[in-house]
Amino acid sequence: MNTIFAQASARGKAGVAVVRLSGPGSWGAVRALAGRVPEPRVASLCTLSEAGGRLDEALVLTFAEGASFTGEEAAELHLHGAVATVAAVLRALSGLPGLRPAEPGEFTRRALENGRLDLAQVEGLADLIEAETEAQRKQALRVLSGEVGRMVGRWRGDLIRAMALCEATIDFVDEDVPVDVWPEVRGLLSGVLADLERERAGVGAAERIRDGFVVAIVGRPNVGKSTLLNALAGREAAITSEVAGTTRDVIEVRMDLGGLPVTLLDTAGLRDSGDAVERIGVERAMERAEAADLRIFLVETGEEPGMVPRDGDLVVRGKADLGDVVGGPAVSGRTGEGLEALVAAVSERLAGRATAVGVVTRERHRVALGSAAEALQGALQNGAASVEMTAEFIRAALRSLDQLLGKVGVEDILDDLFASFCIGK
Ligand code: GDP
Repeated sequence: MNTIFAQASARGKAGVAVVRLSGPGSWGAVRALAGRVPEPRVASLCTLSEAGGRLDEALVLTFAEGASFTGEEAAELHLHGAVATVAAVLRALSGLPGLRPAEPGEFTRRALENGRLDLAQVEGLADLIEAETEAQRKQALRVLSGEVGRMVGRWRGDLIRAMALCEATIDFVDEDVPVDVWPEVRGLLSGVLADLERERAGVGAAERIRDGFVVAIVGRPNVGKSTLLNALAGREAAITSEVAGTTRDVIEVRMDLGGLPVTLLDTAGLRDSGDAVERIGVERAMERAEAADLRIFLVETGEEPGMVPRDGDLVVRGKADLGDVVGGPAVSGRTGEGLEALVAAVSERLAGRATAVGVVTRERHRVALGSAAEALQGALQNGAASVEMTAEFIRAALRSLDQLLGKVGVEDILDDLFASFCIGK
């Protein structure tokens, strides 16, 4: 049962639905349903039938082994997107010998196992499928295109050269060979180390693009936080009320702000309260606001923000429509006045932080880069003292880089990763 099949397009009715097959029986299955196997990579209109009964008129694509997404013999059936059509074709496929439905992410898993994608690319693909904003889409596509693999490939090349130099010294230590390879080894190692550090520093920003920036709206009760959040989100996402202190917990709204993913927090009003439940809300609000990437302090005329603003935070006067014109930025959740300027200010500040992004995007990457960097620091500190030791440090660094691409020691994370894929991917 080595040939798998699944609907690759989203479930539900649609114009077209795509069913994908991969494995040695894919073309045989196409022959069974379509009566022939079209030339690879040429879309052909075929009548699919089962036991003489017509299933659908479909566009059929075949891919030869070594020239498909999974690396295996594969095929795609582009069907009319009716739920009944897809169900009938899937039923017909499961009746064929050697075929079985795919597990979630199984196509991608085969692509990884056959070396068509490295692990970082698989993660990029997972992120691309999840992408909601422009920044997320671009970042995921960069990772999927194999940029991590190319970069690691360059580092590997330099480290392998450094190791070869060390080993040559070990082998010829008793002979009359010039042994002063250290300056070149040091040059190679410090070059790679600098790159590793730079990439590592960018992971934080890349993670923000993946998971979203957090922006907290902070201010006293009734200053208009919930109304502002609703206006920003363009929908009723938080409770607004005349009674002070109704937003007891932290309300979150995810939105796309100028292409960047942002989670907006409407925090409980900052004030001393006798009410125990509300006090907990205020404490939670303070914590979340402290941890946020950016705070928008909503204040009344002449009022100071209840927390000390940090670099990049915004202090804005609320209820601008009430008209007591005083200088400084003002906003009204009710009329929308000043909203555009506020959104521009927030996205400008966040975009500035997003530019530090490198190619690696996950905590797993940061850890692998970190241990590679540590090994190289060891090698550099060890210096020319013992070439055997230096070579060992370099080997450790290479192992960490292999881990980054999923070449070694990653079985445990694979199951997790593929479980996050949908069936048909
Ligand atoms: P929060 O406690 O800070 O979340 O404040 P709310 O958003 O619940 O608003 C408190 C009260 O102020 C409500 O009666 C709102 O209708 C009113 N309000 C909120 N924003 C504005 C605004 O921009 N202009 C005016 N005139 N009233 C507002």
